[in-house]
Amino acid sequence: MKKFKYLFGPVPSRRFGLSLGVDLTPFKTCSFDCVFCQLGRTTNHTTERKEYVPMDGVCNELNEWLSTNGQADYITLAGSGEPTLHSRFGDVLEFIRTHTRIPAVLLTNGTLLDQPGVQEAAARAHIVKVSLSVWDTASYVNINHPHPNLKFDQLVEGLIQFRANFKGRLWMEVFLIDGMNSGPNDVKKIAQLARQINPDCIHLNTAVRPVHHDFVKPLTGEELNSLAPLFDPPAEVIPEFKTTRRPDFQTNEDTLLEMLRRRPCTSEQIAGALGLHLNEVSKYVGKLLRTNRIRKIRKDDNVYYCTVNK
Ligand code: SF4
Repeated sequence: MKKFKYLFGPVPSRRFGLSLGVDLTPFKTCSFDCVFCQLGRTTNHTTERKEYVPMDGVCNELNEWLSTNGQADYITLAGSGEPTLHSRFGDVLEFIRTHTRIPAVLLTNGTLLDQPGVQEAAARAHIVKVSLSVWDTASYVNINHPHPNLKFDQLVEGLIQFRANFKGRLWMEVFLIDGMNSGPNDVKKIAQLARQINPDCIHLNTAVRPVHHDFVKPLTGEELNSLAPLFDPPAEVIPEFKTTRRPDFQTNEDTLLEMLRRRPCTSEQIAGALGLHLNEVSKYVGKLLRTNRIRKIRKDDNVYYCTVNK
């Protein structure tokens, strides 16, 4: 596929099948700096909304991708940060709605959903997936590291208000970290908030992909399954994706393994060498780690990956 500046993939997603990514912010622009972020540390910690990348450039690329017979199950606003920080993300969703039948998805941390303009823009997505992995101010600060302008109550209120007006599908992801928010009492408090927000479905996720902080440990599949019934309706544990569905995914995985067999590389080095978005690299690396074909080594504050038999 041609290399685009604002589009990446389509990538195999555990939730969205084949998903074309649309990246609306420079790396890494976010109102959070979550300990579990799979993209690394937030370098632009902000709540400022502006046209971080030109709307015309994004739409031109989408047009080009669609006219070259672009196929995906979903087109997803996600990438190098929080998409609702882009002042025209609603126009991008509208463009997708009017130019293709592929459903538009917004992945958001929900921090700006208390703003009426952001709610109205987000409502143009077919599916909005929000994250909520905390239950009070202390856990919010500890896990999400929100920008100082943000308050926990504001986050919950924004999510409740958005749900009340949004006609599309609202999905909620709860990201559980061993020992940080995974105790049954903590999970029950998150489930209580989820009941107030009333999403269409709830997905449990854990650190299956590499993250910056070593203290962030994943839960096992059994642990996730045992916590799922605490939610009402019961949460789903996100299944593994199948890379066999398209030959180029298998090729990417094989090429990555070959590369790591020769020398350990960081995510950035892999992205540069294979021409992939960091988000894509994170998915492939996560799968290879989970299947024990590669391992992590830390050197001078950098994380490298190498094959296990090296
Ligand atoms: S909200 Fe998403 S992009 Fe932002 S720091 Fe958290 S996980 Fe990373």
